[in-house]
Amino acid sequence: LIAAEGLGVRFGAVQVLHDVSLRIEKGEIVTLVGPNGSGKSTLLRCLIGVQRPTRGRILKAAGLRVGYVPQKLHIDATLPLTVRRFLDLPHRVPEAEARAALEEAGAGHVMGRQMADLSGGQFQRVLLARAILSEPDILMLDEPTQGLDQPGAAGFYQSLEAIRGRLGCAVLLVSHDLHVVMSASDRVICLNGHVCCEGTPAVVSAAPAYRELFGTGTKGA
Ligand code: ATP
Ligand code: MG
Repeated sequence: LIAAEGLGVRFGAVQVLHDVSLRIEKGEIVTLVGPNGSGKSTLLRCLIGVQRPTRGRILKAAGLRVGYVPQKLHIDATLPLTVRRFLDLPHRVPEAEARAALEEAGAGHVMGRQMADLSGGQFQRVLLARAILSEPDILMLDEPTQGLDQPGAAGFYQSLEAIRGRLGCAVLLVSHDLHVVMSASDRVICLNGHVCCEGTPAVVSAAPAYRELFGTGTKGA
């Protein structure tokens, strides 16, 4: 679906990514884990094409539709903006579609609320709803479970699975909820400037490089 080959990114003198290669296949749920500053967001930005790598290349299936939710999305809390109107950005969507997307994202009840009044978990689910409106082939979500408690994060992954089931899309997300990541991902990629290890959750959690970064437990980082 999408692949990176030998990706390198340097900001001034700082080499943030070195020789990163990965492939995401149709329909899989892949989680990127790694310490703060390890280049996870930079890698997603390269994959969606807003960050130009200094080396290597990105290969995408022709006509690939990508749904992307950045790590930080600042919404001016002083401006009135209902969830319903937010879903109309950038293109107006029919009521039934907006409702279905919100329900699928697990936030069916917040339609008429102000964006500024949502809880962290509700906000992430509204972003997810907006990202699925375009029926992407791949969803890329940068720390959508940030600030959620463990049941909240697990519930978020359940919604992703249901969405993947209907759309057949792949999901690439970044998360620090190691316990949930390990039970809910098809594949995990551990990044620390380079790909330290990758594979099924069982393979990654047993890998020395992963244990060195995160210890042997599965407690959230
Ligand atoms: P976190 O877990 O905190 O979100 P991350 O793994 O997503 O971290 P990145 O945001 O990709 O990390 O940043 C990796 C490194 O690149 C950091 O040291 C950051 O300061 C640096 N960096 C990112 N974007 C830029 C930029 N536009 N200019 C200069 N340095 C940058
Ligand atoms: Mg980040």
